[in-house]
Amino acid sequence: MFTEATAEPVARLIEEFNRLPGIGPKTAQRLTYFLLRAPAEQSRSLAEALIRLKERTIFCSQCFNITEEDPCALCRNPERDHQTICVVEEPLDVLALERTRTYKGLYHVLHGAISPVDGIGPEELRVHELLARVSRDQVKEIVLATNPNLEGEATAMYLHGLLRPLGMRVTRLARGLPVGGDLEYADEVTLIRALEGRREM
Ligand SMILES: [Zn+2]
Repeated sequence: MFTEATAEPVARLIEEFNRLPGIGPKTAQRLTYFLLRAPAEQSRSLAEALIRLKERTIFCSQCFNITEEDPCALCRNPERDHQTICVVEEPLDVLALERTRTYKGLYHVLHGAISPVDGIGPEELRVHELLARVSRDQVKEIVLATNPNLEGEATAMYLHGLLRPLGMRVTRLARGLPVGGDLEYADEVTLIRALEGRREM
């Protein structure tokens, strides 16, 4: 990919950008040459943000969302409904649901979905922690908001089987989310409808 015409630091940054999702070789080059022309301050600020990203973030010990402080701001907020927990696959799903400003409960981030093909079983997800949380706090409703695809449905079914005998209400987001799609890409109106139309499983 590189010839002797590419200085090593330039090649290195292009390679790093290229490893990111959604960034191909062309974009990686464009970003690198943009930074070369931009003031040094911009590169320094980007580098600092990258280092802080990993140094200053942890998982919330209750909901497993990404946070600076444990418990996270959502789990600490007394205004939220602590008896309703919405179970999602990824931290990005929390952002998507929060954008709707409709849901007032708490979250639980599984960090993935059950996928036998990829060797991901319940042990690889934060399922154990969810069960512990549910029996510790007096949870009244669990909203299963895993993605409307094969893995997401399988995960919802699995969790339903574990949670239903514990006596709380277990609901699933209403249909209408694009099938096979990811929650994080759903628009706000669709998400609000899916939340409001959630049904007992
Ligand atoms: Zn939390």
